[in-house]
Amino acid sequence: MSEKHKERRGIETRAIHAGLGYAEQTGAIIPPLFLTSTFESGNPGGFDYTRSGNPNFRNLEETLASLETASRACVFASGVSAITAIVSTLTSGDLVVAEENVYGCTFRLFEEVFKKFGVEVTYLDLTNVENLAAIENHKPTLVWIESPTNPLLKIIDIAATASAAHAAGASLVVDNTFASSCIQRPLELGADLSLLSTTKYTNGHSDALGGVVCTRSDEWGDKMTFAQKALGLQPSPLDCWLIQRGVKTQALRMARHCENALAVAEFLEKETLASMVRYPFLKSHPQYDLACSQMSGGSGIVTADFELSLDKTVALLDRLDLFKCAESLGGIESLSCHPASMTHASVPGDLRREVGITDSLVRFSVGIETVDDLIDDLRQAFASIGG
Ligand SMILES: *Cc1c(COP(=O)(O)O)cnc(C)c1O
Repeated sequence: MSEKHKERRGIETRAIHAGLGYAEQTGAIIPPLFLTSTFESGNPGGFDYTRSGNPNFRNLEETLASLETASRACVFASGVSAITAIVSTLTSGDLVVAEENVYGCTFRLFEEVFKKFGVEVTYLDLTNVENLAAIENHKPTLVWIESPTNPLLKIIDIAATASAAHAAGASLVVDNTFASSCIQRPLELGADLSLLSTTKYTNGHSDALGGVVCTRSDEWGDKMTFAQKALGLQPSPLDCWLIQRGVKTQALRMARHCENALAVAEFLEKETLASMVRYPFLKSHPQYDLACSQMSGGSGIVTADFELSLDKTVALLDRLDLFKCAESLGGIESLSCHPASMTHASVPGDLRREVGITDSLVRFSVGIETVDDLIDDLRQAFASIGG
């Protein structure tokens, strides 16, 4: 079987069959878990010490590179480790242009860690084409976006941002966590780096942490491999093994996440007093056409503003039974989250409200349960708070 033919296989097939090395001697269908910190020198795989490589890392890297249509992928201990790896390549005086609705922990890393090392960050609303055109004037080294953004689900035009970044001589980083590799492939749209918190949809079972950076550039690939070992950002072999098991069902899971989330979004829009319901594949989404052009589904996150007081918003989340209130997203189980007090608590209040994260905003990570049960759960929670 030629490599070219393997690359043309469907994403469902590649999720299951790519990255199965190191099982040849035994015939194991699923590669074993290599719980070892070190390797005898001179081994055929060229392994030395697990901080700088392990068969479970390599297998997962091969699978994720295939899904993102990358030539290189480098796995990390978490999404935040992957972000750290990329930002650690900058030097004092370098500038990052970041989308203003950037993930809370990314914002904290920029502001509270890398600022001390002289890395500057300018935040722009990149749904505004004038701001896209102005990227060049800022002379950034990196342009940093997420699409859809957390928690407002703004859609950023990846191809247009890649062109703007490249015109400025910068590399474009796309945090692809909210869409996932099954729904959106940033490298195909011109991004230089696609990063994922594999903790979320890639693993999908809320039982491991991980991150990955995917690229088609050997130079970036080498920088990521260096950061993995030099900064000690490597994952554990067990987490890689779990994530590799999770990814095999990702295509099926994503299809159900999309179906359920659309139904929940339509329910919230039609049958509640929400002043705003955001879901990329709802016709009312301000960038519905762009979402449909760069994503093959809306993914599993729905954000809504019920214009309730802070107390009533908290009460609503409390009354939900299936949607447990917890940080994180992208698992098989449904979760609810109150960004102002949870994921975005590290963003100052004024800035939070300025970018649209009100105290009454609620984010739902819609799981793959029976959809009628999810809608019933929402209905009873609204009834019980008298909303
Ligand atoms: C969760 C998340 C991260 C961080 O990932 P961890 O695995 O929790 O470190 C980064 N970006 C986005 C968009 C996320 O949702």
